[in-house]
Amino acid sequence: MSTPEVTSFTELALSAPVQKAVSIVGYEQPSPIQAATIPHLLNGDDLLGVAQTGTGKTAAFALPLLSRIDLKKNSPQVLVLAPTRELAIQVAEAFKTYASQMKGFHVLPIYGGQDMSGQLRQLKRGAHVVVGTPGRVMDHLRRGSLNLDGLTGLVLDEADEMLRMGFIDDVEWILEHTPPKRQVALFSATMPKPIRKVADRYLSDPKEVRIATDATTAPRIEQRYLIVNGFDRKLDAITRILEADDFDAMIIFVRTKTATAELAEKLEARGYSASALNGDMNQALRERTINRLKKKQLDIIVATDVAARGIDVERVSHVLNFDIPYDPEAYVHRIGRTGRAGREGKAILFVAPREKRLLHTIEKSTRQTILPMDLPSGSEVSNKRIQSFKELLTETLANQSLDFFHDILAGYSVEHDRSSEDIACALAYLIQKDKPLQVADAPQPKRRRETEKPNNRESEGRRTSERRPERTREKSPRTASKSDDLNMVKYRIEVGRNDDVKPGDIVGAISNEAGIDGGAIGHIKLHDEYSTVDLPAGMPKEILHHLRKVRICNLPTQIKLDNGDGASDSTGAKPSAKKRKPKADAKKTGAKASKGKGEVKAKKRKPA
Ligand code: AMP
Repeated sequence: MSTPEVTSFTELALSAPVQKAVSIVGYEQPSPIQAATIPHLLNGDDLLGVAQTGTGKTAAFALPLLSRIDLKKNSPQVLVLAPTRELAIQVAEAFKTYASQMKGFHVLPIYGGQDMSGQLRQLKRGAHVVVGTPGRVMDHLRRGSLNLDGLTGLVLDEADEMLRMGFIDDVEWILEHTPPKRQVALFSATMPKPIRKVADRYLSDPKEVRIATDATTAPRIEQRYLIVNGFDRKLDAITRILEADDFDAMIIFVRTKTATAELAEKLEARGYSASALNGDMNQALRERTINRLKKKQLDIIVATDVAARGIDVERVSHVLNFDIPYDPEAYVHRIGRTGRAGREGKAILFVAPREKRLLHTIEKSTRQTILPMDLPSGSEVSNKRIQSFKELLTETLANQSLDFFHDILAGYSVEHDRSSEDIACALAYLIQKDKPLQVADAPQPKRRRETEKPNNRESEGRRTSERRPERTREKSPRTASKSDDLNMVKYRIEVGRNDDVKPGDIVGAISNEAGIDGGAIGHIKLHDEYSTVDLPAGMPKEILHHLRKVRICNLPTQIKLDNGDGASDSTGAKPSAKKRKPKADAKKTGAKASKGKGEVKAKKRKPA
């Protein structure tokens, strides 16, 4: 991409509170799209950005636009249009994060399906930034509840998605109802003709910024990806991979300095010798850490791109991209840390469901297919553990003097009339109690690469189904019956049609909270008082336990195995015990259901 050499946020003329917020979040350097975009937006230029989710595009527009906000003015100065409510919420959350040091700052997400009266109240109270889906923004403009007279900046986020979902006329209508002198930034993963037309018509002399789509071919390294979402689930996935794969040394890439420390700490707590490597460490300390990896005093380094630049350690057998890199170039650079000196290397890429497009971009530009991988199964991990257990036994029998224990156990055998084998089993049980030799299978997300849509987010349902009948829910893959699928189990949740729940709310909540790919969620059936949903068999208890408390339409799911007695709700014979909130209330907080948990907040910790 046409990236100027910007290597630190301090080189960008962002306002002091925004700079501070960025350093609190722990970003080490601007991503390529940020380095290229921020100067133009700070300059007041219009902008056409070809970038997809995962490249850091939200901060690319939020940071400069926030830097130019006048907190004394209470009317909306920035409007962001987003195709889906999930994206609107996510963008609004990002604004909140980046404005954490701007006292009195307000951002308001507005989207379809959300209670109108609450939105009207909040709009009256005032917001500096409004993030909305086109339909709802139009509604407010028509009612006069949203006044854009003071608007200075307008962002069209994921413009091609808005086109695909039939919102482009609405977007144009909104553009025509904004002051003529506002700055416009249009972001789109692709640039189809109608989007180009909108840009030609409404953007004035825009600067164009795009991610380079050509990266030098990666060396011969086995490359695989895994769909997984959220810090905790990624951590569990790493642990399984570390246990089942034969690895010598591993470099794990994350995006922030704070994440390097947090992940290294978590891995150490699980018994691995891991250390962080980030830009906060001075050169000497970084070199010492790399040397420890070389000398086998350390097996895992958790690094940011900046800190890991140029690492050349032959024994690195694995590179694991915990967070997806911003662009193919960074990917090629990262995976090049393995496969050194003619050795074989393995590269694993964790991809969140909403980052699938970036995965395809990486494949396209490196001209290499990255194959999907399955998480090592429970039995694979079991076999490894049993193998090391046996090795430990062999080693102990060979090297330890065991006479003392012989006497005790021989005595026990006689006193209790138990065979030596029985006693050995009891001891084996005790030894493995904290790390059992028998490991259950984790649920495997189903893959649908050929048929999958670019993302699974729910749109403002009403508008989508009115305009695009071919995309109605009945045809959606997730509503196709899977009840015969032996790999699926039917669960019941205590939220139903009477609560105004939509299948999308259920998919959103479950995929966000359980880290299951939306496509892996099976048949959903709505009843008046409850719903059923098919989920992959073998869901760990902890996930189910967590899901029980997750709220959809402001009601806890109380998810449990469906025992098939649900017919009662239509007869009214078995009223549910749940407490229902008034509808308006339930709708107002419906957004909560699909609000992602986000990454675990990073703790400050001195790197080793
Ligand atoms: P986006 O492409 O806007 O969806 O951003 C993807 C992810 O990248 C988000 O989780 C951001 O928090 C993260 N991110 C954005 N900019 C940076 C940066 N400069 N350094 C590290 N992480 C970033």
